[in-house]
Amino acid sequence: MNFKEHIRVVENWPQEGISFKDITTLLQNGPAFKGAIDELKQLIQHLEIDVIAGPEARGFVIGCPLAYALGVGFAPIRKPGKLPFDTIEAGYDLEYGKDKLAMHTDAIKPGQRVLIADDLLATGGTISTAINLIEQLGGEVVGAAFLIELTYLTGREKMGNVDVYSLLKY
Ligand code: 5GP
Repeated sequence: MNFKEHIRVVENWPQEGISFKDITTLLQNGPAFKGAIDELKQLIQHLEIDVIAGPEARGFVIGCPLAYALGVGFAPIRKPGKLPFDTIEAGYDLEYGKDKLAMHTDAIKPGQRVLIADDLLATGGTISTAINLIEQLGGEVVGAAFLIELTYLTGREKMGNVDVYSLLKY
């Protein structure tokens, strides 16, 4: 299936010079959404994953159906202040300023094989922070799966020895 035709590219959003890849047009098309999740599943099912972790909010949209399809659990990675139980946090630099992500301390059990899922890999800042959190909890990050990879931003290089799987490249 040609998934790229279902991605809407919005120029100069959220700011001048950014070419935003809008996945809502893919999500609203049942066969395209299902096809994309099925193909991602094919790409990663050899990894013998115990749990999928995904950052809010679009990481939930990709990570949850993938976890359901594989029959494994899902661990949410959220902005601080959103998770009700004990959490750990890790910070990362944005183009302007800093941001933080949090996970429940019991979201990952030591030794579990974890796949990180998100809609898009850009600079890799979000996913490096997710790797940091999962490793603090004793998990082993065995891969990271994305609908879209912006190869010109070289986020892949920030991922160390974590294998990157992506369906669409720009
Ligand atoms: P990174 O941390 O790799 O620089 O940015 C990736 C994060 O920003 C992802 O969580 C993703 O949801 C969001 N993001 C950045 N650019 C885009 C874009 O063009 N389209 C979409 N859908 N998300 C983006």
